[in-house]
Amino acid sequence: MIDKNWKIETLAIQAGYTPKTGDSRVGPITQSTTYAYNTAQEMEDVFAQESQGHLYSRISNPTTQAFEIKMAALEGGISAIACSSGQSATMVSLLNIAQAGDHIVSGSAIYGGTFNLLRHTFKKLGVEVTFVDLNAPAEVIEKAIQANTKAIFGESLGNPAMNVMDFDKLSTIAKKNKIPFIVDNTFPTPYLCRPLELGADIVIHSATKYIDGHATSVGGIIIDGGKFDWTTGKFPGMTQPQADFDGKSFVEKFKELAYINKARSEFIKDIGFVLSPLNSWLANLGLETLHMRMDRHCENAQKVAEYLEQHPKISWVKYPGLKSCESYELAQKYLKGSSGVLTFGVIGGREASEKMMNSLKLAKIVVHVADIRTCVLHPASMTHRQLNDEELKAAGISPDMVRLSVGLENCDDIIADIEQALA
Ligand SMILES: *Cc1c(COP(=O)(O)O)cnc(C)c1O
Repeated sequence: MIDKNWKIETLAIQAGYTPKTGDSRVGPITQSTTYAYNTAQEMEDVFAQESQGHLYSRISNPTTQAFEIKMAALEGGISAIACSSGQSATMVSLLNIAQAGDHIVSGSAIYGGTFNLLRHTFKKLGVEVTFVDLNAPAEVIEKAIQANTKAIFGESLGNPAMNVMDFDKLSTIAKKNKIPFIVDNTFPTPYLCRPLELGADIVIHSATKYIDGHATSVGGIIIDGGKFDWTTGKFPGMTQPQADFDGKSFVEKFKELAYINKARSEFIKDIGFVLSPLNSWLANLGLETLHMRMDRHCENAQKVAEYLEQHPKISWVKYPGLKSCESYELAQKYLKGSSGVLTFGVIGGREASEKMMNSLKLAKIVVHVADIRTCVLHPASMTHRQLNDEELKAAGISPDMVRLSVGLENCDDIIADIEQALA
């Protein structure tokens, strides 16, 4: 049960699972591959999607479904589908509507894994991607759109460039060209940014980051706002007859739920990008404190950013909560806070930055970002190492950049650790 009036904090705790009398208060981990039916007809009806039910955990699972319902509620979408990772969520969100011969426009300042997926793996699959600076003027972005372009994709808050997306500009371009605007909302989470209310059509997340929040499990999710019109002729996969549904298309069969049902049918069921029940359960558990964690992440990161900004050994700091940040205005307009992630450079360049990282004690060097433990990473030599110099520049990454993910420890201890490392 979800009450329409519930605010996001309530949804984060209550949505997705409601016990019937005598049931466990906490949603269970349904660690089962399969589901039992009494008659062949009952199972047949579920297969034909004439009635609701679970069949096999590669297709759906009650624990994963609870996570999906909660995420759809948190983002204000109509439906969601969990995936095995953020990477698979990105892939499914785009390949669900683009196939060999098609084209996508993507922001250039995006997560390194996403860049590699779109730049190299999509190319092998026959889908071309043009990367553009999403903070460029509308005319520049529109020039990248072709007749076969099927989506505009970008990050609401770029990892690690920390540039904020201009939602009004991008949603206007997408609407004008009748293509969906797909937003990776991983860093802000639905608590700090509301893409579907700001003109996005589809939202994706790496649930591995703030959603789980504790660095325990890899996962991803796609949420559909349910408002995009797939029947313009640009998306034949949505409107062509399907053998499975007696010749009906996904749109005819599922109406506004077509996009998520197509993703489930072709990518989760056929290809198997499924999230395990345990990981769904952990992501769900993490969500229960999302609002409290995000407020504190923002508060701590703001303090650390202000501390670094006045430090004589720091050459630059980038955090959209700082007035000096070029994304400050956009952050004020579109975000409730700028997350716990910030970037900076140490005077002396790359070597000095690495020396500083090596001297941290509380903050560990890890590949992860966006969880409760403060951590650091050197994007140019780690997550974005496959990018050449030009691509690094377009991704907003300099050789001296340290990405700091400010955790939920006492902020005085975090700052003291940075202080001693810089010393
Ligand atoms: C980590 C990340 C991804 C990829 O997610 P995984 O869960 O690691 O597969 C995608 N987008 C952003 C912004 C990320 O930070």
